[in-house]
Amino acid sequence: MKRRGIAIDGPSGAGKSTLARRLARELGFVYVDTGAIYRTVGLAARRRGIDPADGEAVAAMLPRLAIGMGYGEDGLQHMYLDGEDVTRAIRENEISACASKVAALPAVRAFLLEMQRRTARENDVVMDGRDIGTVVLPQADVKIYLTAAAEARAERRYRELLERGQRADLDQVLREVVERDRRDMEREVSPLRRADGAALADTTGLDLEESFQLLLRLVRERLDV
Ligand code: C5P
Repeated sequence: MKRRGIAIDGPSGAGKSTLARRLARELGFVYVDTGAIYRTVGLAARRRGIDPADGEAVAAMLPRLAIGMGYGEDGLQHMYLDGEDVTRAIRENEISACASKVAALPAVRAFLLEMQRRTARENDVVMDGRDIGTVVLPQADVKIYLTAAAEARAERRYRELLERGQRADLDQVLREVVERDRRDMEREVSPLRRADGAALADTTGLDLEESFQLLLRLVRERLDV
């Protein structure tokens, strides 16, 4: 049976993972957070003392990496690095920048491509990331580009960090958001951009519920679910 795929791309802080996870639950699809996979590679580089922007050193590390992805009893996607559950560790703020640096390396993207495609061949998926509609699943049944103004995204990210008990400064969070967007959009391999045929969902000024209803409507206009 042909599996169905929903590709959701967009910059950080647009609410992709929260909305995509909820959408997957609503439709009975598997949610795949591809950012978590890049974060795991970023964490691996950091733990080995490798500069995440050093293409040769990171490429040399890849064949020896044991990266695993699984679904816990909580239904959440867990990431494993060399057998250790790193689901929480990859969410540390400094890992965001490591992830976007390793994500700019062609060797890293090639290494992770098949893992993502295999998951989509075997399951109905809602997959979120930066290049799902453009590169990973260009034939997805539904493609969505989910975004919001940088200030709105920084504000959400800031509140998220505070809720997690981490210290944060709103101006600094905004600078990091803008810098990460720039790196993701200007890199040569698989830059973040709206895929051909992707519907635009702008969540600036919308709360979570309104954003979800917008997303659900866009999906149902395109797929019989
Ligand atoms: O989505 P998240 O913020 O967790 O992603 C972390 C980083 O991983 C992003 O800034 C981006 O550089 C990279 N990424 C990517 N392609 C994807 C998903 C994430 O380049 N499909």
